[in-house]
Amino acid sequence: MYCAKEMKFRMYICCMNTFATAKPYYIAGPCSAESLLQLTDFIDQTKNMPLKMIRAGVWKPRSKPGNFEGHGEQALKWILELKKRVSIPFCIEVANKDQVELALKYNIDAVWLGARTTVNPFVVQEICDALRGTKIPVLVKNPINPDIELWCGAIERIQQCGTESIAAVHRGFSSYDKSSKYRNNPIWAIPIELKRRYPSLPILCDPSHITGNKSLIASVAQRALDLDFDGLMIESHPNPELAMSDAAQQITPSELEILLKELKIRSCNTDAITELENVRQVLDSLDAEIVALLGKRMSLVKELATIKSKNNMPIFQQERWREIIISRTEWGQHISLTDEFILKLFEIIHDESIKTQFRSLGQYFVHECKLRDS
Ligand code: PEP
Ligand code: MN
Repeated sequence: MYCAKEMKFRMYICCMNTFATAKPYYIAGPCSAESLLQLTDFIDQTKNMPLKMIRAGVWKPRSKPGNFEGHGEQALKWILELKKRVSIPFCIEVANKDQVELALKYNIDAVWLGARTTVNPFVVQEICDALRGTKIPVLVKNPINPDIELWCGAIERIQQCGTESIAAVHRGFSSYDKSSKYRNNPIWAIPIELKRRYPSLPILCDPSHITGNKSLIASVAQRALDLDFDGLMIESHPNPELAMSDAAQQITPSELEILLKELKIRSCNTDAITELENVRQVLDSLDAEIVALLGKRMSLVKELATIKSKNNMPIFQQERWREIIISRTEWGQHISLTDEFILKLFEIIHDESIKTQFRSLGQYFVHECKLRDS
């Protein structure tokens, strides 16, 4: 069920949205605009590719000071110069009102809100106020943290300032856990939920910032298309090794060409098989998260064994087991999971945890012994 406001939003964006004029809608270009030569090279090498827009960062949000922060207005001059020769639109990131004003002054065709901007409603509003009345297309990247409401909030603010062409860009979510193979965790369930809320809002995937690693880009890009994303934003640089930002995740124009040729484009018909596949892909990614969490839990459990052994405490403690079942079944009740299911699940998890503790102390676990009085 959608509320009246959402219905209006959906109809509004489906009518005249630039990002819905092609599917898949491809945007590519360097992380940063580094020189007129670099941009010209990129344009020349990609002129026969099905790109709808070129990306190039002009102001770069860097976590730490002292890194390359973009060429700013100088880069806008290069883009303006290039646009005298080629007709392809350019998009850049804007992160405040002054940047929007400069982007407009230099006839930039579209702008995007970066992940560090979407998290801040004050800045998003400032950007909206600067965009009001311009009709320039806007891409909204997901916030850095996995908060769908912030993402929706930024999209709705942009829509309220009169922008007709809006698209969301999924670029993954940052995580404390640095052991993941991805730079930013995709958590596919979030963009899928965004799509459920706004079925007509185009969603592009940015596999470059999700993976942080050129070797993983193709698989994430394919997964996005399999999940019926509307397009891709990919970082590509004529000479990635020399890139001034995000060198590890940029591919060359020839690699981009191969990638675009090899991607399997699924047909957009909404038959049952496609629907089933979409849901299964989300389930797969959720299951991968469950397995990773279980792995983490088991490693922590080994620490428990050491503490217990040092302090001469029993491995299995009835009181702790009681606490586990009471709290976990209660959590389950809040989200309609039955007590029976939670109990079964945690019996298996806790059993394995006890076994792991015995094993890590070099002792046998007597499988037949009855641990629980439940
Ligand atoms: C970028 O696109 O270069 C960028 C900085 O993106 P994000 O906001 O996703 O980190
Ligand atoms: Mn980048």
